[in-house]
Amino acid sequence: MASRVYDASAFYAGVPFASPELGLTTTLVFDEIKHIKKSHGALETLLDTNRLQIQDPDSTSIEFVSNEAKKTGDIQKLSGADISAVALAHELKATLITDDFAISNLAKNIRLQVQPIMTKGIRDVGKWLHYCAGCKKEFSGLEFCPNCGNKLNRKLLKR
Ligand SMILES: [Zn+2]
Repeated sequence: MASRVYDASAFYAGVPFASPELGLTTTLVFDEIKHIKKSHGALETLLDTNRLQIQDPDSTSIEFVSNEAKKTGDIQKLSGADISAVALAHELKATLITDDFAISNLAKNIRLQVQPIMTKGIRDVGKWLHYCAGCKKEFSGLEFCPNCGNKLNRKLLKR
């Protein structure tokens, strides 16, 4: 049985097109992503080869997820399509494939399995750099500059 649900960000990242596994998505998500250029033709192939199925959650699941989203405060950042993807994953006890922070946050709050999109995950892994804005020097493992005493700034050094 299918156990993966894609939200819109999964399509934007190209995940469904790169996966041989079956995934599901909702009508609302499909309507949102069917215009993206890189999926032209590819979406039909996915549907034809049974690697993508469209299924909609029932209203009870949507209501449950919307209420949870209000509690976590994610509701303003989420579209109807986003909510529907989370609700479908909830209903099917499926893994939600998403690249969206608010969606991940909500999904984790209702104890859904969330699979972040690997390319993004790898890109975001980096090393924290501590530096003094005054001396323009880098220090590791310190909170304050040993030269001038300024609080060190921190930035993520991406690969
Ligand atoms: Zn300094």
